[in-house]
Amino acid sequence: MSFTRFPCATSLALAGAFSLTTAPLHAADNLLIVTLDGLRWQELYRGLDHALATHPDYSPRSEQLLAQFWNEDPSVRARKLFPFLHEVVFPQGTHAGNRDAGSCARISNPWHFSFPGYSEILSGVVNRSIDTNGKNPNPERTLLELLDGTPAFADRVAAFASWDVFPWIFNVERSGLPVNALGTSVTANTPLEATLLQLSEDIPPPWETVRHDAFTHHYALEHLRTERPRVTFISYGETDDFAHDGRYDEYIFAAQRTDRFIRELWEFVQGTEGYRDNTVLFITVDHGRGETPLETWQYHASKESLTGYMQSLAKYEDGIVGSEDVWMAAMGPGVPVRGSLANGDAACLTSNRIAATLLQYLDVDYRTLNSAMGAPLQEFLP
Ligand SMILES: [Zn+2]
Repeated sequence: MSFTRFPCATSLALAGAFSLTTAPLHAADNLLIVTLDGLRWQELYRGLDHALATHPDYSPRSEQLLAQFWNEDPSVRARKLFPFLHEVVFPQGTHAGNRDAGSCARISNPWHFSFPGYSEILSGVVNRSIDTNGKNPNPERTLLELLDGTPAFADRVAAFASWDVFPWIFNVERSGLPVNALGTSVTANTPLEATLLQLSEDIPPPWETVRHDAFTHHYALEHLRTERPRVTFISYGETDDFAHDGRYDEYIFAAQRTDRFIRELWEFVQGTEGYRDNTVLFITVDHGRGETPLETWQYHASKESLTGYMQSLAKYEDGIVGSEDVWMAAMGPGVPVRGSLANGDAACLTSNRIAATLLQYLDVDYRTLNSAMGAPLQEFLP
């Protein structure tokens, strides 16, 4: 398999001249899209929450949490928890979602849970009829499916996920996409994949529907090493499930592991000919979680979902306030170095515009694939 290197500096300079349009931008040949399920912007930007970290039910490992992650200064706490994001991604790229700094990002689907969230991110379309997390084939097409249908990307896309619903989110029956998730059958092509397969049979998954993120991560890394896909989606899931379990300590430890996993992905990319300086990393989440009252950190649901899929949370009459609040971050060729965007609530960035943005990094005009997608986020483009 060979990679063609493009003179990125030249194409960036040209693209810069037309930056207010959706002019083609050949920034990178490859994309790495990473999601952390339901990881709140509060932890990302403020670090460890003291009330939750000292709560006897939520944090039995309180002492260890505080020793590892506590500091009076929220920005120091945030760096302790997410060193790769704060010390590498943010200074070298662009990010949105820190409400404390006037930065706003949110989902635009009306439900505020995972299937509609991932569908919005990956398809660029908000489809109201996607109103459960059930294993229903997605009527929308993800950017992976759309790209896989083009000669330049055919068989060069792959998805890895901890949650067992992803084969339906990607509608594998229709798309034929390779999706490696809990419950999918995996063919081991390398000794490491054989070991992962053996261990995944020998170590029971921690939840009925979600596997340990370590499996998702190492399957993805090995596939990048051996198959060199152009577009790779990786969904880490532990954060959401530990939160639903009411375990703030484990949610935090999982968040820090995920930061390390993303660092490992990036170090692999930057150490590999063909990927190096030729890959955009985009990181986001499918929904936020509550903040007030305190216990709502465990949950996420819109007011509208309370009469349907989220009726178990009906006692929260307004839904879980804040669960539409998300964050997004990117770095790599074509991603400007703008740091935290101070876009404010009125110009809040929405997740349905991510897919078209990602396509533009690859020099693909989203309108040629699905004109119903939200328009590219100019804030994330040169
Ligand atoms: Zn959830």
